[in-house]
Amino acid sequence: VVSNSGGANLPAGLVTALAADRTSRLGVLEVDEPYLPRVVDAVAPQVAVLMNLTRDQLDRNAEVRRVAARWREATPRVPVVVANADDPLVVWAAQAAPTVRWVAAGLAWRYDAVACPACGGLIRVAGGLEGSAASAPWRCERCGFARPDPSWSLAGEELCGPAPGDRWQLSLGLPGPANRGNAALAVAAAHEFGVSVEEGIEALGGVSTVEGRYLTTAFAGRPVRLLLAKNPAGWQEALGLVRPPPAGLVVAVNARIADGRDPAWLWDVPFEVLAGRRVVAAGERARDVAVRLRYAGVQHIRVDDLGQALRTADGAGPVEAVANYTAFQHLRAVVGGCRGAG
Ligand SMILES: [Zn+2]
Repeated sequence: VVSNSGGANLPAGLVTALAADRTSRLGVLEVDEPYLPRVVDAVAPQVAVLMNLTRDQLDRNAEVRRVAARWREATPRVPVVVANADDPLVVWAAQAAPTVRWVAAGLAWRYDAVACPACGGLIRVAGGLEGSAASAPWRCERCGFARPDPSWSLAGEELCGPAPGDRWQLSLGLPGPANRGNAALAVAAAHEFGVSVEEGIEALGGVSTVEGRYLTTAFAGRPVRLLLAKNPAGWQEALGLVRPPPAGLVVAVNARIADGRDPAWLWDVPFEVLAGRRVVAAGERARDVAVRLRYAGVQHIRVDDLGQALRTADGAGPVEAVANYTAFQHLRAVVGGCRGAG
């Protein structure tokens, strides 16, 4: 199986992955969202997995509804789409496919899908937009566009399958509800290729870090855990994983081309949940982070240098370091003992 598991999800990375072993019979490609139609036309996939859609790098990418419309034009050319039934934008894109396997994989961040992609009406979610149930029925109050009945769903740590009584324990090495949702979609997708649910779950249980994400390493005498977050949805998820004090917390943000040059999205991240602890604002845009934390009522100090930021973090326990894309790469280099170029 060839795959771009390192995360190079633009056409050059996909070609490199496919060329790595030209005798391989299967490929698994993670695709940058606007490129999906082009990749579908180029490789004619048997299965496409649509997980969620959220605003990311708005200076480079289109708004999410535009991306959903592009996906909707591509899905009729994919025989089977495995799709997250909890994301209205994904459902709208997927329902044009010949066959869809709906997975209730959860959607904790709903602010990119408050309006119906079909008619612009308001989407009502059972339990509200911030309800604790990330997986919940939803319906457009104007046109009736609604969440389809899922074949696969999550009940806490358990995965429920298409047949009555199908239940499996998910024992994942990666934390949090987003990874459980991703795992449910992955198992359902592998099932389309004849992989048993047990085999799929076992394989997923062996993953404990992805390109440094979730990795705990030692730095300056303390354990440091690296969490990557690139957009408000990802930050909400990451902040939900951060351990409470005495764990220290570093928030590092850059705004290079790979991050998106405009860090205005910081204002959508619910930093208010950090009230009551002292945070170190770091990275090339530490000042922007500091201003945002000030308005969120979060006590903080600003330390531009990443190594110094990790050393400065409060508490005696581990340090949680949450960073966006290039800041995360710099953090990896810092804790890995070598200063990354640039
Ligand atoms: Zn509607």
